Amino acid sequence: MGEAGLYNRGMSAPAVADEILTKFEPVIGLEVHVQLGTNTKIFCSCPVEFGAPPNTNVCPVCLGLPGALPVLSRQAVELAIGAALALHCQINPFSRFARKNYFYPDLPKGYQISQYDQPLAEHGFLDIVTDNSHKRVGVTRVHMEDDAGKSVHDGFRDSDHYTYVDLNRSGTPLIEIVSEPEMRSSDEAYAYLTELKQTMQYIGISDCDMEKGQLRCDANVSVRLRGAEKFGTKVEVKNLNSFRFLKMALEHEIERQVELIESGGRVQQETRLYNVDSGKTTAMRSKEQAHDYRYFPEPDLIPLRVSEHWLHEVKAKLPELPSDRRERFVETYGLREYDAQVLTLTRETGDYFEAAVAVSGDGRSTANWVTGDLMGLLKAAGKEIAESPIKPAHLGELVALINKGELSGKLAKEILPKMFQTGDSPSVIMDREGLRQISDAAALEKIVADVLAANPKQVEQYKAGKIAVAGFLVGQVMKASRGQANPAAVNEVLKKALAG
Ligand code: ADP
Ligand code: ZN
Ligand code: MG
Repeated sequence: MGEAGLYNRGMSAPAVADEILTKFEPVIGLEVHVQLGTNTKIFCSCPVEFGAPPNTNVCPVCLGLPGALPVLSRQAVELAIGAALALHCQINPFSRFARKNYFYPDLPKGYQISQYDQPLAEHGFLDIVTDNSHKRVGVTRVHMEDDAGKSVHDGFRDSDHYTYVDLNRSGTPLIEIVSEPEMRSSDEAYAYLTELKQTMQYIGISDCDMEKGQLRCDANVSVRLRGAEKFGTKVEVKNLNSFRFLKMALEHEIERQVELIESGGRVQQETRLYNVDSGKTTAMRSKEQAHDYRYFPEPDLIPLRVSEHWLHEVKAKLPELPSDRRERFVETYGLREYDAQVLTLTRETGDYFEAAVAVSGDGRSTANWVTGDLMGLLKAAGKEIAESPIKPAHLGELVALINKGELSGKLAKEILPKMFQTGDSPSVIMDREGLRQISDAAALEKIVADVLAANPKQVEQYKAGKIAVAGFLVGQVMKASRGQANPAAVNEVLKKALAG
């Protein structure tokens, strides 16, 4: 395979070539940082706030001044426990913090406070779906740590470039979620990160806004010959600040490693950076240059004990998880897997659906209306479901009216956009516009009688065996009702009247 075919693919890198994937199997493990949505920092009471003027949300603790002592935020621990529970982890009743020592200008303490040999939680999993196939990916561990500050490289003064340090972010609470090396394609990695983000947002522990750095991902990737048991040498790819870049970087890296092996080389264990402009990864540091963090237990903090009681409290406050809700939607409402998935993408969508079903009593059609017409209208208007002008109860009413035969599916499709425009209920619109479908037998009998009286010739023909004229008579009834008669009901009433 030529160099051009492998590397010069730019922004729209297609998936890895089939001939590569029939011979080699990628192995991927992700390390994801999630910023916890606390009000304050993890070890001091400074506010966590994005976009504040530089170095305004700081104090001796997060500035790393000598002698300042950290105090662990209870809220941060509770959010971290919530996240770990959502990832089906076991919460360790005893965990502790450790110092991870390294020098960096935006790390004034000279160390990060993290967890090392005794993390908060372990042995979890996340279920992912790709192309309708299910897979469980193991979560090795979830641990807590503080974030560093930020180096701002675009400082400019007196025609010189400066790098400034902003310590507002210093001490922001993070969790790191480490996966098992169990993903086998860039699509699975993409699905894992999607599911992870969705879960974190769903239980409300983080907004996971990637542009604000609230969700960050490093990818570990290696390749091995299909059928081989031993993993290949892994490369860590950093700087993946969007879902698309994660996928593109992995695809590039898989091809690079295969190319290297096929040409007789060996993959070096190293950290590489993904360059968005070139679409390539470049070496950042090798194993030999790897940091030796000299971890040791943090002497300024007591170990973290999570009692059964506290754990129960946090559990009780957690909402139903999206994966559980998905399953429940399939079982309780008889939804298709795909619809259940779409309806549990966000908590708001699931809540909307359930509120509508409570009124309609029909899960399947309600699901169809929500995922189809309603989502179409919302998308066109650039609105979130929480801002939907159609209240869930009104959508439920619409479905119920169809099921009761008071509204045809065709009329309902016309009414829905009007509900969207006005926020009115379907019955209000039907009354206002005279759109109510007539299924009531008594009302129809009257119209039918009038039509039969006005068309004696056709009635005679029908009675003489020319059944086909019934179609003409139905048409007359529909016309007389200005299209509002329920055709099925008309048929029935007409047949009776003609037989009588
Ligand atoms: P390190 O000691 O370099 O930190 P770990 O074993 O802790 O490595 O794993 C870090 C991450 O790399 C995890 O997400 C793990 O799943 C992943 N990983 C480990 N080995 C491999 C491999 N051979 N190929 C791909 N990913 C791997
Ligand atoms: Zn502070
Ligand atoms: Mg490790």
